[in-house]
Amino acid sequence: MKILVVEDEKSIADVEKAYMLREGFEAEIATDGIEALRMFNEGAYDLVILDLMLPGMKGESVCREIRRSSSVPIIMVTAKSGEDDVIAGLDAGADDYIIKPFSPRVLMARIRANIRNIDHPVNGNSEIINIGHDIEIDNEKLTVTKKGEEISLTKNEFMIFAKMASRPEKTWTRDELINYALGYEYEGFERSIDSYIKNIRKKLADPEHENGYIKTVHGFGYRVTE
Ligand code: CA
Repeated sequence: MKILVVEDEKSIADVEKAYMLREGFEAEIATDGIEALRMFNEGAYDLVILDLMLPGMKGESVCREIRRSSSVPIIMVTAKSGEDDVIAGLDAGADDYIIKPFSPRVLMARIRANIRNIDHPVNGNSEIINIGHDIEIDNEKLTVTKKGEEISLTKNEFMIFAKMASRPEKTWTRDELINYALGYEYEGFERSIDSYIKNIRKKLADPEHENGYIKTVHGFGYRVTE
């Protein structure tokens, strides 16, 4: 496990790195967005910790740039406690977020949760799930294909979509989906799930399926639809 820590405050980055090393992870620090992208493109990282308030290039932009080529787990770290800032970060493609100031132990728990999800895919689901004729979800390979073409979903996007597809008759509440995707009782903004759904829809939608195979059930949540 190799983690890229993007953080311009050296004292914070050093503490984060120390905890990661103690847990047996490798960790490298980038102090601005440009350096982060350069390092990311050159090294094989398994997870990215991304501060949003960076000098020069903003964290959101770094996130979008990484997402163009990779579905690596990205955990945003933000001093902004505003819900809108968190939502903007998730819209940019981050998997998870943590609000400063935080205890390093909480950060490590989030890292473990985001890694654990990779090792334990959608439990109890049959291997292949189809939605209509076009969408195929492979719970073994952790892939979603549309008309045979693979759609690049992030881990949490995959978890949420595959979970919903496992029971197409069920409407899932935001709470259910976020607790499931993040793998623990999640204390966060309920609206976060809307960002994940928005990103899944963006990737799956076409003129005939403008809702990206996900129906909004007003007042309740979401379910998949053909
Ligand atoms: Ca900062």
